[in-house]
Amino acid sequence: DTAALKRLSGAHHWHPFTDHQELAALGGPRIITHADGVWLTDSTGARILDAMAGLWCVNVGYGRRELADAAYQQLTDLSFYHGFFKTTTEPTVRLAAKLAELTPPGLSRAFFANSGSEANDTIVRMARHYWALKGKPEKRVFIGREHGYHGTTMAATSLNGMKVMHEQGGLPLPGFAHVMAPYPFEAQGQMSAEAFGRLAARAVEEKILAIGPENVAAFIGEPVQGAGGVIIPPDSYWPEINRICREHDILLIADEVICGFGRLGHWFGSQRYGIRPDFMTLAKGITSGYVPLSAVMVGDRVAETLIHEGGEFYHGFTYSGHPVACAVALANLEVIEREGLVDRARTEIGPYLREKLEEVLDGHPIVGEIRAEGMIGAIEIVKDRRTRERFAGGGKVGLMARDHCFNNNLIMRGIRDSLVFAPALSMTKEEADEAARLARLALDLTAKDLGVL
Ligand code: PLP
Repeated sequence: DTAALKRLSGAHHWHPFTDHQELAALGGPRIITHADGVWLTDSTGARILDAMAGLWCVNVGYGRRELADAAYQQLTDLSFYHGFFKTTTEPTVRLAAKLAELTPPGLSRAFFANSGSEANDTIVRMARHYWALKGKPEKRVFIGREHGYHGTTMAATSLNGMKVMHEQGGLPLPGFAHVMAPYPFEAQGQMSAEAFGRLAARAVEEKILAIGPENVAAFIGEPVQGAGGVIIPPDSYWPEINRICREHDILLIADEVICGFGRLGHWFGSQRYGIRPDFMTLAKGITSGYVPLSAVMVGDRVAETLIHEGGEFYHGFTYSGHPVACAVALANLEVIEREGLVDRARTEIGPYLREKLEEVLDGHPIVGEIRAEGMIGAIEIVKDRRTRERFAGGGKVGLMARDHCFNNNLIMRGIRDSLVFAPALSMTKEEADEAARLARLALDLTAKDLGVL
């Protein structure tokens, strides 16, 4: 029963990214028992509208029978085999070929791992190995961005631009640098978004020149920064990054863990922004979160060198290319294609959700901006809509709004002073209406707490 599970959880389960004192004060975790479409059910029978697709991953929605069937069939036929002994399995090969077909030209090979973090760690090793093979072993530094999120392993945390994560564990590792994010809202209206995008790109070039291009291995960025607060770059940003990386001979990594598989209304964020990456990191939406799987798409330039000049690359995970995960991924991609979910996110449900939020939040005293791209977006919470002045207290109001959402059976996420959303691409218009209505309620309650309403 619920009380017993909460007691066991309190005694034995260490939650990811959780303050356990706060969790205990709440009386323990909410226990989720079922899910269908965008709806979760908890152990008390309450239904919760999940406007975060779990953790930005359940792109096709919960409860898809064909994904479960694909897993069952594969578990029955061949529950496990691997690629270490010059062996492979059919779903692994088919998925690699499918990813090569879907991703932009020039990314022909997939290396599989289990999580976005592992995939990014893999890229760090591959990129350094590549430069060593090219006779430039000193090209070792990775440049990431403030508010960037790339995972929780040692190298991925080092790529992150989050100070709180660096403070725990003595990170970043040597050889990781960071630059500003293309976050025009922070310019407080003092320059146009496009000018801000150019400024943020210039900061990348200045950092490369300060470190010395001969020392820089790669630049990493999420097409739209997700966990850092859904930071949508101005269109001026990525073309400049392409140019800078090309001119200074720096590898470009597009971390598409959130943006991939239709989230931005394109198969990949790189297509939305015209990014020309040497590596692409994929996870989350690759299986819609039904089972763990990630992939590194390796650009031909790097792949040719590593394969033809590198001999054995001493890297791989027991579950690299797990057949069950790959079978589920193939079934998931079939659903996305058959239902046209990528176009739906761009032309139909994405714009609808955004317009609904704009409608219900029109003139709301604490809403400074609503921004969205496809099926991901953010609502910026401010004290003064005109000047965009923030509330005092250093970025805590997003969490207040998140709690009001949660208490009213809507899941959105609080990041600093914003409330962010990334629902399943299969969300219906009625569900978008309901999400907007509940978001309004949560923001009204937040405004009351802050003494504004
Ligand atoms: N990269 C991005 C852009 C992410 O958003 C995440 C997770 O949220 C990761 C990497 C890490 O993925 P994982 O949690 O599967 O290790």
